[in-house]
Amino acid sequence: MKVTVDKDLCTGCELCCDALPDVFAMDGGTAVTKVDEVPAELADAVKDAAVNCPVEAIKVS
Ligand code: SF4
Repeated sequence: MKVTVDKDLCTGCELCCDALPDVFAMDGGTAVTKVDEVPAELADAVKDAAVNCPVEAIKVS
């Protein structure tokens, strides 16, 4: 599973970074992903982060 953050949508609330610091980090006021491929054991948590993002900026595929 892959994960990306749409920087045009991200408001920099840091919710995803707080929940999953191994996957998301802040960079210049928006979140970025630290991994290209989500480790299998974090897949469900990343899906939750995508659902919980207030502006739906996190895309999983
Ligand atoms: S939860 Fe969404 S809006 Fe908040 S920092 Fe993460 S990607 Fe950006």
